Amino acid sequence: MAQLTTGGSQGYLRIATEEAFSTPELIAAFRDELAAPDPDPGLQSLIGFYLDHPAERPQFIAKALLDLGEGRLADMDARGIDRQILALTAPATNAVHDVDRAAMIAETANDRLAEACRAHPDRFSGMAACAPQDAPRAAREIERAVTKLGLKAVVINSHILGEYLDNPKFSEVLEAAEAMDAPIYLHPNTPPRNMIGPMLEAGLDGAVFGFGVETGMHALRLITSGVFDRFPRLQVIIGHMGEALPFWMYRLDFMHQAGIRANRYEFLKPLKKEKVSNYLKENFYMTNSGVAWEPAIKFTQDVIGKDRVLYAMDYPYQCPAEEVAKLDAMDMSLEDKKMFFQTNAERVFKL
Ligand code: MN
Repeated sequence: MAQLTTGGSQGYLRIATEEAFSTPELIAAFRDELAAPDPDPGLQSLIGFYLDHPAERPQFIAKALLDLGEGRLADMDARGIDRQILALTAPATNAVHDVDRAAMIAETANDRLAEACRAHPDRFSGMAACAPQDAPRAAREIERAVTKLGLKAVVINSHILGEYLDNPKFSEVLEAAEAMDAPIYLHPNTPPRNMIGPMLEAGLDGAVFGFGVETGMHALRLITSGVFDRFPRLQVIIGHMGEALPFWMYRLDFMHQAGIRANRYEFLKPLKKEKVSNYLKENFYMTNSGVAWEPAIKFTQDVIGKDRVLYAMDYPYQCPAEEVAKLDAMDMSLEDKKMFFQTNAERVFKL
């Protein structure tokens, strides 16, 4: 494999848009959640593994998550990544039961992230964390993070202790994101207690499959509940090649329409844009985090639009340099590759 370099000599910069970091405050809260009686099985499976497992990969990840300086920059250099768009790692504050503590963790993380972005303005940009459990405070924090700290988006790690963003109690969060013109990155969480059972039993609860199922459903709930009719300018970014939703699109449209015609569910109401796919094409961006796979990327570009598919690495969870080289080598015009790696991210995150 040829040496990967930053600086754009291949014809585009590489901007990675779903890159994770952590804070000591968040780690302390995770430890307290895991020590409490009857901890959440998803948190236990995910964070229990990444905090303390002696294997080489979780040890590397635990260390890399806390590095917002030289170690991270060296890893980016070695992989040819010009810029990371950073977000507080999953499930972040969504799994913290003490609401005040959750909000404090998000606010401190935003301050730390803004400081790193100020120290390395040509390498780091960031997304705001918040604690949706306290929606008015989360809305104020989103406004502070965008206007005062210069953060570019909002990260929400899918379900909030088993609740979903279409619940009207979270309306102020969506309203603030829309008002600030800040996209929401709907990042995965492990499935909640009432969904995780058979996945956990089969070792399929995490990034391997459960993440995509849970987050894909969350994204669909936002559409079918009419969130985008209430907040038409709201934009949501989903990773992992759109959590496989592009591949489902035809059947989603058919069965959703059939369900509405039959008045089958109280939850399902006719939508202004009618089809689920119209919202996927007009209110969503999709990144390829964790999916360094040319056919899936091209399929998504084809059905969602080339201007809506962005590059992401998912550092430090999945970051082989070979994946970057593989994506550079895609059979795709230089113009389209530049949109994928660089210019779509510059537009969406206002870089
Ligand atoms: Mn991720």
